[in-house]
Amino acid sequence: MGVGELKSEESSVASSETRAYDSEFRLDPLTERWVLIAEGRNERPSDFETDGVERGAREPCERDADYQCAFCPGNEGLTTPTTAAVIPRDSCANGDYPSDYVVASGGDACGVQGPSWRARAFENKYPAFRLSERGADALDFSEPRRRFRSGELSPSERFFQKIDAVGRHEVVADTNRHLRGWGEMTALEVGLAFRLLQSRLRDFRASGRFAHAFFFKNVGVGAGASQPHSHCQIVASPLTPDDVHFQLERVALYEKNRRAVGETDSFWDALLRAELADGRRVVAAMEEFVLYCPYASRFPIQMEICPRSDEPFEDYDSNKLDALARTARNAVLALQRAYEKQVPTATAPLDYNVVMTNAPYRVNSDFEEAARVFRPRLTILPSLVKKAGYEHGSGIDINPISPETAASRLRKFWGNV
Ligand SMILES: [Zn+2]
Repeated sequence: MGVGELKSEESSVASSETRAYDSEFRLDPLTERWVLIAEGRNERPSDFETDGVERGAREPCERDADYQCAFCPGNEGLTTPTTAAVIPRDSCANGDYPSDYVVASGGDACGVQGPSWRARAFENKYPAFRLSERGADALDFSEPRRRFRSGELSPSERFFQKIDAVGRHEVVADTNRHLRGWGEMTALEVGLAFRLLQSRLRDFRASGRFAHAFFFKNVGVGAGASQPHSHCQIVASPLTPDDVHFQLERVALYEKNRRAVGETDSFWDALLRAELADGRRVVAAMEEFVLYCPYASRFPIQMEICPRSDEPFEDYDSNKLDALARTARNAVLALQRAYEKQVPTATAPLDYNVVMTNAPYRVNSDFEEAARVFRPRLTILPSLVKKAGYEHGSGIDINPISPETAASRLRKFWGNV
């Protein structure tokens, strides 16, 4: 979908009363944390049984007479209209190489049906937020904080500050086969899914409407998935999330300090150099990416894929994109082989999240340089622990498996997959 389609869809959303957004970000005056209140998400159905058994996840859904997977080919009508899809370059049904496929968007994609597509994007039926004509460009997370700190608000206003949550929330069914996740997909399939993810993020960046966009993946009930068919979600927002902005501030400070002392390495160059020199937390070092378990991993067996150069994900060429897709797939495979049935809380198949941390598209002039060197990373998080009292009370996560132990085990399974 191009910019034109984005605008026309925006109008149709704004003109429909039943589709008016109802989500809002609320500010906690003590912690200054934002919370997204989105009652529309409550209505979303789950295709998992309540005991966590995945309906149809292990068998192709067409063999399961009473189950219709909304993300399988032929069931496109069960989702919102297709916004973009990966399809064969010519009428042949399948190809062996990424170059045999193209990404179709807008009108070329909306009629895509049946098994010809290999990955398909569409708006989330139960989005956390939607586009609106109401002042998206004027939204600013910092303004309510400024007002609170300035003391200019009346008692009835100061504790109840909010901003409308507007944006775009899409789903990418990342294979036309009813598979669970990247570990079950071929390298070609994962590579094609990454083409579509990149294409959507490129469109969101080019639209000029969003300050930030990223994708994530939930696999299994324990990771928050409501659908058993492998998929990703993309969220584009006119706001840069606080966590990303906090990282941006740290990078800006690092850049300023390293210039002052004449260091040549940027933040991630220096970090990767240090991790590679130490070696204990590195799982694999490729030409363009390093896979490692971060020193202060918040969760057990947390893995990060960090690029060795500063280029935005949206600008990766096809070779680099394929290399990232291959690394992500192999990381999930190594995780599954190394840890399914190996830790007390793990069951097979293992549930996990993959989260992209992306650079903002729009920043104020103080952070432009930091945004240019901000590296897009992928974090893989197995769902092995739940936050309990200590974590809620202190804000500090307890990680029962050290990143050194996790990396040591993952290395044994890396490459044997
Ligand atoms: Zn399916």
